Formats: sequence, structure tokens, C-alpha cells
Amino acid sequence: MSSDSWYEIQKLDDDVSLILESQISDEWRCNIWHVRGRDCDLVIDTGLGLRPIAEEITEITERPVIAICTHSHHDHSGGLHQFDSRCGHPAEADIFANPTREATTANLMEAQYVKATPYSEFDIDTWCVQAAPLTNEVDEGDIIDLGNRTFQVIHFPGHSPGSIALWEEKTGIMFTGDTLYDGDLYDHLYHSVPELFRESLQRMKTFPINTVHGGHDASFDNARMQIIIDEYMDGKRSMLCPSQS
Ligand SMILES: [Zn+2]
Repeated sequence: MSSDSWYEIQKLDDDVSLILESQISDEWRCNIWHVRGRDCDLVIDTGLGLRPIAEEITEITERPVIAICTHSHHDHSGGLHQFDSRCGHPAEADIFANPTREATTANLMEAQYVKATPYSEFDIDTWCVQAAPLTNEVDEGDIIDLGNRTFQVIHFPGHSPGSIALWEEKTGIMFTGDTLYDGDLYDHLYHSVPELFRESLQRMKTFPINTVHGGHDASFDNARMQIIIDEYMDGKRSMLCPSQS
């Protein structure tokens, strides 16, 4: 397969675009979100970072960019080192600064998920996220201000200790990372805490959300969010009890 284009961009509503890694399979690649603001733009999650994103996605070069990772797993944080402004939760600051294959779960990735070789020395069995020390630690209640729109940081521990979401009250948009998407939720990783995961999902239901832009898979509305969370609470969609899903 051609490796000419590593990234593709899809423009959605509300000045939100979805950037995808074309050569990473659907099951593995994360959603890289780009939000256009008046004074600066926001990039939420950064993909694996196997190719320089700014070379192909000119939209992120037009004004200053704040990059924020919803958590430090390799599929979300691998590209963070490519940005000057790097935000994440303090609970995972050490992983961003000193990433290992185990801490970023890069050791779980397999060759079948990478459809083209990103660079000649690439080796799936040894590859690791590059160090990307946070320039700004962000925690519950902090505001990311783009000039004409603001996003509030919500701490949703469970999938990982420093998992966060970005909440825009004005539009009812929430970027939820791996705390919620339309698939089986990963509550079984080395630093996952299922009890906290359930608490975070119960809390998420209390927000007047219109649109969920998750860390993977397609976006959905509030009604779908309620169904997905209820199914998780019923034991479906959990990696800990896959026989019920
Ligand atoms: Zn994750």
C-alpha cells in the first residue's frame, strides 16, 4: 500500500476536524482532534507520531497550537513531542517525560495494525514513544482559552490515572479520550482502575452533552452516550468480562 499520505483530515461541524493516520488500522489508531479558535488552535491527542504531522496537515500550522493529550497511551501521545505547547494531567507527567513501552502500552501494538512502513528503521517490537515533557500540567477545572471558545478540563480517572476530557459548555461538545467511545472500553490495562472508571462514566452522564468526540470510533449524541454507558455498567463493553459483550 502507498505510504505517500500518512495523515488525512475530515472537516466536521463547529470548526472541529478529525485527523486520522491513514496507514494505521481502524482498530488501533486514535482520533486526533483539531479545533479552530480565534487566537490559537487546539489539538486533542496526537496519534502515534510516526511521521511529522505538520508537514501534511497545514491546518495546524496556521496559528499557534496548544496540544493536549487525554492520557499518555502511545496511540494518543506518540506525536506530542512534535508540539511546543504540551498539556496533560500531572498523574501521568512522568510517563510523558520518561515513556517506556510498558507505561505507554506500546508493547501491546502488533505489526498487523501498521499498514505501511513509516521510516526505514521502524521496528514494531522496539518502537517507543519519544519523550515529551509537559509544558503545562492541566487538572480538573482548568480552562483552555482559544479566544472565542473555552474548554474546561475534566479529570476522569479509570482508564488511566490521568485521563481527562475537554468540555465546551457553549456547544455541549465533550472530547472524552478513552474514557468513552463507541466500542469496548479498556478497563483492564496495567494502571486501569475499574471502580474509578465506573465513577467517571456515571459523572459524565450528568453533563448536558450534545456531542461526544471520543478517542476512537465515530462521534455520537447524548442518547447514544446514555446507552453506551448503561451497557458498560451492565457488564457489556468491558474488557474485563468480554464473554458478556
Ligand atoms: Zn488509552
